[in-house]
Amino acid sequence: MQEQMAKMLISMAMACAAVAAVAAVVMVWQKFQKHSPCEQALVLLYEFRHACATPLHVLRQISEHMALEMQAGLDQPGGSQLTMLPTFIEKLPNGSEEGLFYALDLGGTNFRVLRCLLGGPEARVVKQEHEEVPIPRQLMLGTSEELFDFIAMRLITFMQREGPEFHRGCNLNDQQIRELGLTFSFPIRQTSINTGILIQWTKGFKITDGVGKDVVTMLQSAMDRQKGWPQIRVAVLINDTVGTLAGGHYWNDDVMIGMILGAGANACYVEGNLPNDIQTKSGKMVVNMELGGFWSSHLPRTDIDEQLDNESVNPGDAAFEKLIGGMYLGEIVRRLLLKMAQEARLFGGVTLTKLKQPFILVTPEMSKMHADDSPDLIVVGKVLRDVFDIGQTELPVRRIVHIVCDTVTKRSARLAAAGIVGILKKIGRDGWSDEVGVSGTLKPLRRNSERTARPELKRTIVAMDGSLYEHYNRFRIYMQAAVHELLSEAAARKLVIELSKDGSGVGASILAACHSERKHSAHT
Ligand code: ADP
Ligand code: MG
Repeated sequence: MQEQMAKMLISMAMACAAVAAVAAVVMVWQKFQKHSPCEQALVLLYEFRHACATPLHVLRQISEHMALEMQAGLDQPGGSQLTMLPTFIEKLPNGSEEGLFYALDLGGTNFRVLRCLLGGPEARVVKQEHEEVPIPRQLMLGTSEELFDFIAMRLITFMQREGPEFHRGCNLNDQQIRELGLTFSFPIRQTSINTGILIQWTKGFKITDGVGKDVVTMLQSAMDRQKGWPQIRVAVLINDTVGTLAGGHYWNDDVMIGMILGAGANACYVEGNLPNDIQTKSGKMVVNMELGGFWSSHLPRTDIDEQLDNESVNPGDAAFEKLIGGMYLGEIVRRLLLKMAQEARLFGGVTLTKLKQPFILVTPEMSKMHADDSPDLIVVGKVLRDVFDIGQTELPVRRIVHIVCDTVTKRSARLAAAGIVGILKKIGRDGWSDEVGVSGTLKPLRRNSERTARPELKRTIVAMDGSLYEHYNRFRIYMQAAVHELLSEAAARKLVIELSKDGSGVGASILAACHSERKHSAHT
C-alpha cells in the first residue's frame, strides 16, 4: 500500500516537473519573441564573437603549436598536418645574378609568362616584360597533353617577341636555350630542384591524366613537339611562396619567409635545422609548409566554420586556410547573416534567395562594407542591396553587419599573425630565449613581462604577396597589431613584413638565374 502511494507521489512529482519545464520554455520563448530582431541578432552575434575570440593566450598557444607541428612534419612525412615539403632550394639569389631568364607561372585560370634581364649587383633588374594568358575552359577539362601544348605554344609566341634590348650584356644568340623558372601551384611531390610528380589536379582543373607524371617533363615534351627555336631548360620548379621568398631575398638577405595571403594561405621559409634524411651543403633549405593545412585544437572554430568545412569540396582538410583565406571570409559572413535572417528575422520579411547562395558574397565586397566609416554606413546598405537584394535596412541592422565583417576579419588576421610568429619561433627569431618551440611539449604560458627576451636578434623580413593582404586594409592593421602583441618588443622592432607585389614571377626567373647551367656564381 505504502509502496503504491510512493509510486503515485513520484509520478505526480514527475508530471509537475514536466509541466514546469514546459512552462519555463514557453516563458523564455515568449520573452525572446518580445525582443526586436536586432536584439535577437545581437545574441547570435555575441555567441559567434565569443567562439571566434583570439585573446593573446590563445594566439600564443597556436603559434607554439605551429612551431611544434612544423618540427613534427619535418621529422616524419605525415607526422603533422603541415606537410613541410622540401623544395631542394638551397641557394637563394643575392643580387649578383646576370643574364636573360624566363618564368612561367601556372596555378589558376590564367598563366603568366615573363622575361627578365638581370644586370648584376649594380644594374639589378634591367628590364622585364610579362604577359597574362587566360586558359580556355575546355583545356581545363581535357588532357594534360592538350593543356601543355597550349602553354608551350603561347610561351613560344612570347619568346619569339624577345627584343634585342634583352640581349644587352649577356652574349645570347638566337640558337641558345633559354633557362626558365617554373612556378606550378598544384600539389606536387618534388624529387629534385627541377622535377616534381603531380599529385592531383585542383582549382577547377578536371584533367583526365597527368597525375603521377613529372610536370617538367610534360612541359619539356610539349616544347619539343613544337620543334625549332626557341627551346628551354627548366632550371627550377617551385611554388608561388618560394618565388616570393626568392624575389625578396634578391634585394635583401634578411628575407627568410615568403608568404601568400590571397584566396588561400601558404608560406615557406629557410630552415637551418634539417632532419638527417634531407641534407644540403650549407645545412639550409627552403621548406614549403603548406600552411593552410595546419590544424590545432586551439583554433577558434564556430559551428558555422564546421558547416562550411562539411559542405566544402575537401572536408576535414585545410582547416587553417578556411579560417584565414580570402576565398572563405565573405562566405563565413554570408552564413552568419543567413542564420541571423532565419533565426532572428534580422532583415524582416525579405526573400532570402540570394542570401542562401553559397559564395555569393566575395571578400572584396565584404572588405568594402568593413571599410565603410560613413555615419550611416551607406556602403554597407549598398552592398546588402547589390549582393543580397536586401533593399531597405535600418542603421542598427547595418551596424550588426559591419560588426560581423569586423569579427571574421579580426580572427583571420590574428590567426595569420600567430602563423608568422610560429615560423619565427621555429627559426629562433621570435625574441624569447625561454622557449624554442621545438622541444616536443608546450611550455606553460606566462605574461610577456615574466619572460626573458633574447638580447641579440637578427632582422627578419617576411616577403608577402596576395590580394587579401594587399587590398584589405583592416586585415593588415589587425595582423600587424597581433604580431606586435605576440613578439617581444625587441623582436617586433626587428620584424618587417614587406609587400612583394607579384614578386613570385620575377622571383622564379631570378631563381632560374641562380641555378643556371650557363654560369655558376657564389650564393648564400
Ligand atoms: P590567388 O590567391 O588566387 O593567387 P590573389 O592573391 O589575387 O590570387 O588573391 C585573391 C583573393 O584575394 C580573393 O579570393 C579575394 O577574396 C581576395 N581579395 C581580392 N581583392 C580584395 C579586396 N579588395 N579586399 C579583400 N580581399 C580581396
Ligand atoms: Mg597568386
